[in-house]
Amino acid sequence: AAKDAGRNRTVIYNEALSDAAASRRELEQALRHALDHEEFVLHYQPQVNAQGEPEVMEALLRWASPDRGLVPPGEFIPVLEESGMIIEATRWVFREACRQACRWHAMGHALRIAVNLSPLDFRQADLAGSLLAILEEEGASASMLELEVTESALLEADEHVQQTLGRLKAAGLPLLLDDFGTGYASLTYLQRFRFDGIKIDREFVSGLPDSEQSVALVRGILTMASHLGLHVVAEGVENERQAAFLRLNGCPSLQGFHYARPQPAAQCRLQQNGRPINLQLPLDG
Ligand code: C2E
Ligand code: MG
Ligand code: MG
Ligand code: MG
Repeated sequence: AAKDAGRNRTVIYNEALSDAAASRRELEQALRHALDHEEFVLHYQPQVNAQGEPEVMEALLRWASPDRGLVPPGEFIPVLEESGMIIEATRWVFREACRQACRWHAMGHALRIAVNLSPLDFRQADLAGSLLAILEEEGASASMLELEVTESALLEADEHVQQTLGRLKAAGLPLLLDDFGTGYASLTYLQRFRFDGIKIDREFVSGLPDSEQSVALVRGILTMASHLGLHVVAEGVENERQAAFLRLNGCPSLQGFHYARPQPAAQCRLQQNGRPINLQLPLDG
């Protein structure tokens, strides 16, 4: 009987496994279709300066699936990464960001668009060449964009990654280290790669201003960054107490739901009467 039960368990387990494999294959195929049929969209979230004026918009990828609705990146980026489709997706995001940056510039908004790179993007032979070609094809200038790279991209901190980042930076694309503080050996990377700035992860911002530990860490990061001449963006600013603490401690740039949620370009309210909207004030009234 024990033997039978064991066999049953094995059967059930195998079925569960093949179900998971099947739905995974289905998701992969749906994503392939999505790439071919332009089902992806970009939402934009502002980074505001101390006066509350937007200076950079981060491009955040969503999948507008006819079957599944608006799918957040956490649910499909890992699949794009594991299947290698991320390389194509990144090119699409970068091209779309170039076009939007040109549109905003033509409308008189001197905004930069920040694009997220995946660690897997660095697996291709010529990431720098392909991004720079897109810039040129779209007639955008490097200073209209910037790149966000996570520490995990740098874990394989070999010659190739270093050269790629060096070329992108030399072409005039600002480089930001994303999710700062959540990975390993950030300080080594800051020294080895010449980053223009860092984004303090939401994890540290969420504890402000009550957690003594968060306060110490964020103050430490801001002091270090200012000595190294690095720009700093605080991620995940959700309320005025966090914003006030960050401004008081000299954080030059803030991003989070407190200012705006990521939204399609057409819904981003950027200017009023020819002046930048102060996103800290109510938008209507
Ligand atoms: P990230 O680059 O660190 O982006 C910030 C994430 O925090 C976004 O989630 C944003 O919507 C969310 N966020 C912003 N403000 C707040 C806040 O005040 N509170 C909270 N709770 N969350 C906030 P999203 O859009 O779901 O993206 C998640 C991650 O997916 C991104 O983290 C990034 O790593 C990745 N991702 C998004 N778009 C792309 C892309 O085009 N390419 C690649 N490779 N990765 C992307
Ligand atoms: Mg980012
Ligand atoms: Mg981030
Ligand atoms: Mg983050």
